[in-house]
Amino acid sequence: MCEHCGNTATAHPRLTRRRILTLATAAGAAFAAAPPAFAAPPKAPPKPENVLAPDAALKRLMEGNARYVEGIAKRQDFKHEREALSMGQNPFAAILSCADSRIAPEYCFDTARGDIFVCRIAGNFASDEMVASLEYAVQVLNTPLIMVLGHDSCGAVDATIKSVKDGTTLPGHLPSLVAAIKPAVDAVSGQSGDLLANAIARNVTLNVDKLKAAAPILQSFVADKKIRVVGGVYTLTTGRVALLG
Ligand SMILES: [Zn+2]
Repeated sequence: MCEHCGNTATAHPRLTRRRILTLATAAGAAFAAAPPAFAAPPKAPPKPENVLAPDAALKRLMEGNARYVEGIAKRQDFKHEREALSMGQNPFAAILSCADSRIAPEYCFDTARGDIFVCRIAGNFASDEMVASLEYAVQVLNTPLIMVLGHDSCGAVDATIKSVKDGTTLPGHLPSLVAAIKPAVDAVSGQSGDLLANAIARNVTLNVDKLKAAAPILQSFVADKKIRVVGGVYTLTTGRVALLG
């Protein structure tokens, strides 16, 4: 048995100084040889049914939402998925959702674990960290679809409208949300119709455009038609997601 880790199956070779140096050199060479950004490990996807073209991924997502709306969600086999998912993940869609507790992307698209890669932030905008997370989903996990998901009665957008109208500065770190959502509010000010609904929709489409243009990773995947980036708005009363654009 190895005295270092208790491994009884195979005893480790004694970690001499020479061997440690050899391992360190090999690791350094592997890192230097990796492609830019990060490399996807070549292994079989744990959920083969999630290997989809972008259009098929969107179809599956919206079919899941239709089941959720009708209250006929699938029974998920969480128990038997655990082992396969412990080896990796290949979600078929990534969702940039508002953090609002009433929007639960896994529920509203009737998905299981390992199916959707969810990034959440109040106001569902593409901060650098969100873009980086979505780059990871696309480049490393081979996710073929990104959806920016807003919702009606969004408090983050409403607070931004009030802050812009009143010229007030919100406390704490909230001004960072206002700054991120303000371009959508400015873009629809003066338009006919409901200002909040218009700003929510515009905030989604502006962030869809931002993700499509996010160079070099997302932009190139969009140009090569390897992924689609779409926008949707969730309605609180029905649970229905309406696609925009
Ligand atoms: Zn919201």
